[in-house]
Parts: sequence; structure tokens; C-alpha cells
Amino acid sequence: MAPNPHDFKDRLHDLPTPEPESPFPRARKPYRFSTLCATVENPDMKDQYGSSSVPIYQTATFKGVGNEYDYTRSGNPTRTHLQHHLAKISSASHAFTVSSGMAALDVILRILKPGDEVIAGDDLYGGTNRLLTYIRKHVGVVVHHVDTTNPENLHDYIHPTKTAMVLLESPTNPLLKIVDLATISKDVKEIAPGAVIVVDNTMMSPYLQRPLEHGADIVYDSATKYLSGHHDLMAGVVTCNRDDIAQQIAFTINSVGNALTPIDSFLLLRGIKTLALRMDRQQQTTQLVAEYLWNLGFHVNYPGLPDHPQREVHLRIADGNGAVLSFETGNKELSEKIVAATRLWGISVSFGCVNSLISMPCVMSHASIDAATRAARGLPEDLIRLCVGIEDPTDLLDDLEHALLDAGAIELNAAQNKLVRVPDPDALSRAVHDLDLNGDQEQLEWFVSAPGKVILFGEHAVVHGVTAVAASVDLRCYGLTTPRTDNKLSVHFSDIDNFYHEWDIQNLPWDSVTPIPVGGTHPEELDQRLVEAITSTALAELGEDKKAARAASLAFLYLYMALAKGDRRPALNFTARSTLPVGAGLGSSASFSTCAAAALSLVHRRLTLPALPAPNVTHTSHQGRRALPHNIAEDVNRLAFMAEKILHGNPSGVDNSVSVFGGALAYTRAGFGRDGGMEGIQGFKSLKFLLTNSKVPRDTKKLVAGVGEKKANEPELVNGILKSIQSISDEARRALADPELPRDALLSALNALIEENHDHLVTLGVSHPALETIREKTKSPFGLSTKLTGAGGGGCAVTLIPDDFKDEDLQSLIDELIRQDYQPYLTSVGGSGLGILSPYPEHRTRGSDPLPPRQDVGQVTPPETPNPEIAEGYEKQAGVFDPLRPPFETAATTDLPGWTAGLGRWLYV
Ligand code: PLP
Repeated sequence: MAPNPHDFKDRLHDLPTPEPESPFPRARKPYRFSTLCATVENPDMKDQYGSSSVPIYQTATFKGVGNEYDYTRSGNPTRTHLQHHLAKISSASHAFTVSSGMAALDVILRILKPGDEVIAGDDLYGGTNRLLTYIRKHVGVVVHHVDTTNPENLHDYIHPTKTAMVLLESPTNPLLKIVDLATISKDVKEIAPGAVIVVDNTMMSPYLQRPLEHGADIVYDSATKYLSGHHDLMAGVVTCNRDDIAQQIAFTINSVGNALTPIDSFLLLRGIKTLALRMDRQQQTTQLVAEYLWNLGFHVNYPGLPDHPQREVHLRIADGNGAVLSFETGNKELSEKIVAATRLWGISVSFGCVNSLISMPCVMSHASIDAATRAARGLPEDLIRLCVGIEDPTDLLDDLEHALLDAGAIELNAAQNKLVRVPDPDALSRAVHDLDLNGDQEQLEWFVSAPGKVILFGEHAVVHGVTAVAASVDLRCYGLTTPRTDNKLSVHFSDIDNFYHEWDIQNLPWDSVTPIPVGGTHPEELDQRLVEAITSTALAELGEDKKAARAASLAFLYLYMALAKGDRRPALNFTARSTLPVGAGLGSSASFSTCAAAALSLVHRRLTLPALPAPNVTHTSHQGRRALPHNIAEDVNRLAFMAEKILHGNPSGVDNSVSVFGGALAYTRAGFGRDGGMEGIQGFKSLKFLLTNSKVPRDTKKLVAGVGEKKANEPELVNGILKSIQSISDEARRALADPELPRDALLSALNALIEENHDHLVTLGVSHPALETIREKTKSPFGLSTKLTGAGGGGCAVTLIPDDFKDEDLQSLIDELIRQDYQPYLTSVGGSGLGILSPYPEHRTRGSDPLPPRQDVGQVTPPETPNPEIAEGYEKQAGVFDPLRPPFETAATTDLPGWTAGLGRWLYV
């Protein structure tokens, strides 16, 4: 059962109180709160006529020189009375009143100077967020938004000298989350004694909570709410006990001129006299309303209910539960109907008035916060907020019940003869969604991998409308995100000159982000505004010599920012390594894009992995194939395509599709008299290929243009070739997908098609002497078929290796190719697509065994690259497993596949 709010009332307040006007002085007990409220007396300011109510000194100036008052901006007797009264009821020695709650915060924030750090809650009043963003941008103050409902969350951000202010609210509005003001004040003071603890006390008022008693240095209130109580004025109050702070605040108010006017001071003073009375009635009724809704089965947020998760903390720091509650109906439209159906409850923003109000925060008071941010903060779209007034509780409950009935949220159950809640058909799916959104486990270490691709048939011809057949190769790019603790984002691209760079997350151009709503997908088009904003800010210092790293960083930052949910911007490092040769036409950029897209979708909780049954067989790299559902693959593919667009301008989408989906697919460009598109080749059998990198650099654009020119000059020849290549692709597709075709027949058909396709590519003029040498070496004496792959003119050649090809022969072929200074890779084609290392502890075999240091040349860590173990901001992740980053970054490339397979179960598309 909830406590009776009256229980709190009997606490004695040891506050400075005026001596009564009595000719018979006698010792007296301190007055209780409601007596203090009603007794507006300042012994130092006796009224010359003995007026019962403080007069309004409606004057701008005061005559004379050297008197206490000269100009109302600096001081006014009505305001002085009010401030004295406020200090008295707030356990404060100083109180100031200004033109609004936001003006109060503005005055407080002016204590800060550039470079100072502020730790603030992540569920603050929207106007507070707006002002913090302003000072972050214009004053150069660093603001860390943290979930302050757990004091430990602040520890990573408290800095002994840099932390200048901690800004808290409890309970929060409209979710009524509780913040342990006392514990946080103590913790912060221990580490950062110079930091100022500031509390917005609007939801409670001094009657129910006086944070100065719990270690806060400054408290402010929007007096527009409970203190005034009638919604007939705007005002803000700042209270404190420190003289130095009081001096600064007084100076600012006098300088900017936002002190409260005499008439508003009078009105506020009048309102405060009934504060305790109003609040007692209001919170008593709120308790009734909360229990009524709770008993009907609605999810109700109110600290007066027994199931409020932080009720114990609230009872420790507050004297009552307040008069605001919120509840969920399970359906936004239903909530709208309920709100519209009430009569007595006024539809309005704000709270604290004698009249009861009803609102839907997501469409009213919090509508200025975008939907994605609202969702990230766990603010349900269907949430209804009730701000309870002083009307008769029976009338309020009657009106609410009628509205619930009219809207269809409750109905009469004849059997039970009582009103019951109408079941919500979407309850289950919502629960699953909430679980994803609110999962409190901050998983930031994600390990992903994705394959490269080879074009088996149809390259170049594909540009002219011929179908190309592409397949995944078992050489992969790996991407690992690991948490940082310093609010920075960093990338380490091992294969792009071991590039390492880091950014302050808050300095990224967040204003240019158009957030993707929760459950939504990235639009078809790249957001050029964001691309340009990142390029001109975060990447401005990276010169032309860092072109490739700059492009990869752009793709990474773009995805990080576009996928971020609201203000949740986790600090992390992303390391990418590739067993694919980079820039050799094997789709290394697409596999990088896929890794970045998948890892960042996981980090930002845009993907939810299916729960798997615990494995009872040994882990092999392909065991988890098909564990990742198609919709996950599609979401990642869409994002990987965006990254490919950043890297390549106008990609076909084949590379990223192969990288995500694995296997093989047929791709035809649209616009040649038929519909273009991609189609997976079902039943594709994995084939062994030798990929040989000629190490001859190529210019794809030039090669493509050359074929175009040839077609223009010799249309008959080229069109004939294109036709033949189309039949090769068709034939290959048929053979690869034919479940009846014996393996031998398949291999010999493919051998013939390989030879034929290569000959056509030679005629098109895109081979290279190096590629021809590789062909000869594989043909004689081994009798293997080889063709160029991709744009040709260098790059890679592919050689089909029959199943019965002898190991010794393969070894001598590889040796011979290496002797010729080529780089061969034995790989299989048509394997898994995107892979994610299972995060489930039961699927992980071990953390990270130390690996022998990498030996591959050209990958020596440059001196300026921080050692991941000692780099600032890097910290061993708590938990069962050791962090993967150090061994991942130091492993030899050749060891990567084996090492990653040994980490546990991989989930593949
Ligand atoms: N703090 C809280 C918790 C509020 O709810 C509000 C206003 O709704 C403010 C501050 C700002 O106060 P004002 O509107 O008086 O500027």
C-alpha cells in the first residue's frame, strides 16, 4: 500500500523563522512547513502601515542617494520579501527570483567558462536540454548526458578538475524516474570538490523536497508551477547556501536584468502561502488516481506506487510523491481518444496548477524532441501525463473513467460486474520492442565479418546490360567495436597504412543528422548534407595523402551518426582488418562497408539478434549459417550500400549484396530493354578457387571507358561479344543452380565457360600481360582454367580448382606463382555472407588467447598509433571475456580466420 502523504507532514523543519510579533516573548518550537508558507514576515522589513499583505512597489526607480533601493532591476522591496520567504522555506540562506524557470537556469549556467565539463541527466526537461546545447556550442562547455538514475553511471565522467557542474532533476518529467541526489552529491564532491551540484526541483517544490539538505549547492524551480499554483505568472527561483555563489548569481541577475517584476513577485508570494495546502490535496488525489489506473492494469509511473523501481530512494530524499503521474495505454490512438474524451481535465502543457491537466507528452510538451530521441529515452508515444489539481477527487475520477470508457480503453465485464481494461492486441510485440529499447546491458563489443566477392562471369559486359554472376569468396574483412570511456570515437584501419584517428563525439556535426526513427530504415538516398558536414568538420584535417582512409572514415562516421538513437552516442573504437587484398577488385570495400554497417547497427541497437538455443556441437565457422534472419541482412545491406556510395560514388550494389548475403547472385543492370535486378542463385555449390593477385594496379574507370569506346567504334564485334557473354552467364547460372547436374559435369562446364569468357575479355582489350602469365602458369602443366576477374588490366585472376586436384600440385602451383611475384590465395567461393560473433555467453568459447605477433610486412604499427592497451580511453571491459581488441589488432593476417573461428559461435546470414 502506498504511504499516506500526510505521514510526511509532521516532520519538523529546522528553518530560520521570524519571531512572532508579540509583546510576550517566549521560547517556541520551530514552525511546521505550512505555517512557514502562510507566515510572510521579514523582521528586517517592517511595513510602515502594518499592511497584512506585502504591498506591490510598482516602481522602476527610488528617490535619493545611497539608500537600500535605487533601481528595480537591482532590487525591489516586494521582490526582497518574496526572496526572503523563499529562502525560509527552501533551507537556504539566499534566494533569487527571475522571470522564468529557464531564466533561472540561464543565470546558473553563466557560472561556467569555456572548457568546463557538465554532467547532466539524459531525461531532462526539453528546455533545459535546449539551453545546454546552446552553451555547449557557443560557450565551449562540454556536456555529458548520463542516465543519472544510477549514481554509478556518473563515475566515468567525474573529473577532479574539469567537472564544473552536475545538473540533476528528480523525479523526471514525465516518466517520474528518481535520481539519488544525496548519493550523487556525495560521490561528486569526493572526486571533484570544486564541482557545483545543481538540482531542478520543479516537480517537487520546496514543500516536498529540499535538495540543499542533501548536498546540492544550487537549487532552482520553475515557480510557474507549484510555487505559484495558479498558472497566472511565469517565474523562476534560485536558492543556495554558499555566499560566493550567491554573489555571482546576484551579479548576473543585475547585469542581464531578468529579475522578477514587482507585480509577479506579489502574485508569487500570494501563491506560496497556500503551497502546502494545495500540494497536500493534490498529491492525495494523485495517489487515488494512480491506484485507480494501476488496479485497472495500466502501467503507471508514480513513486507512490509499490512497484516504482526507485521508491526507496525517493522516500529517503523527499517528503511526498508529488502530483504528476503518467501512464501507458499501449496504443497511441487510444491515448489520443482518452485525452480528447476528458472534460474536467484540461488539455494543456505545464503542471502545478490548481486545475487538473491531461496531456500526451510526445505530441505536446516533448514534441520538440524528435521521435528517435524520444524513443531512445524510452518515452512511449502513447504516454498520458496527468497533473492533478485541487478539484474534488470524485469528480476527477468520474471524468477520467468516462473518458476511458468512451475511448474503449475499459469496458464493463458483466460476469465480474466491474470495469476492466480492454486487452491490447499489440501488447506482446510492444513488450519485445521495449525490451530491445530499454535493454540496460550496454553491449558495445561487437565482432563482425563479411566476405569479399569475385565476378565469375560477365564483367564489363554487365555495364552494357549483360547479366553478371558474382559469388562470395572466403576471404573476409573483420570489424570489431570496443567501448571507450572518454566520450571519443576512433577508427583503426589496419590495411590502409595502419590509419588511426579519433574524434570527440560531441564535436561531430550532429545538427546535420536527420535521425532514422526507431523501427525505420535509412532512406534510399545518401544524406548529402550529412556527408558534407562530416567532410568539412571531422575530416577537414585529413589531407589528400590520406584519401582512402578519409573515405573509409567518412563512411564509418556517416553510419555512426545516422544510426544513433537520440542522444545515446556511445564512445567506441572500430578496428577493421582484412584478409582480402585491398583494391584488387575482390570487393574489399563492400566487405568493409558491410562490417561497419552491421557493427554500428548493433552498437546503436538497430538490430536485435535472435536468441539461439545453446549449442551442443563443436563450433565451426559455418555452423551458424542461416542463423541471421533475412530482415537483418536486408537492413545491413541497405546501410552497406550507403557506405559503398560514399566510397565509390555510384556502385551497382552487387558487391555489398554478395558481402551481406553470401552465396552467389546474378545481376543485370536496368535500362537495356528489360528490368534490372539481382537474384540469388539458389543451390549454389561451394567451389574451390585460386585467386591470384597480379599486383598490377588498375584504373577501373579507364578500362570501362575503353570498352565503351570500342563498342562505339566496332559495334558489330562488341555486340556479338556481349551476346556471347550473356549466353555464358545464362549457362553458368543454369549449371550452378541445377541440383541434378553431377559435380564433374558442373566443373567441366564451368572450366569451358571460364576459358570462353576470358577470351572475350581479351578481345575487349582488358587483359594484361601479367594476367596472361598467370593463365599460362595454371594451364601448363596443371591443365587448369583461369580468367581475369573484375575490371581486368591487372588486379586478380581466378582459377577453378577441381575437387580432386592434388595437394602437391596445388602447392607447386602456388610456389611458382609466388616465385613470379604474384600473390595467390586459395579460397572457396559461394560461402557465408555477413557473420556476427554470438554475444551469448554460452556460445563464446574463450576471450582472447594471446596470439603470436603479426608478421605480415607493411603492417608495422607506426609510432603515433596508440597501443590499444594503454591508449587513453581504453579500458578492459568488465565481464567474463577479455577484450578482443588487443589480440585482434596484433594477430598476423594469416592467423585471423583460425583465431576468429576459435572465439565461439558465429551467426551467419
Ligand atoms: N524545469 C522543469 C522541470 C519544467 O517542467 C519547466 C517548464 O515546464 C522548466 C524547468 C522551465 O520553466 P519555465 O517554463 O518557467 O521557464
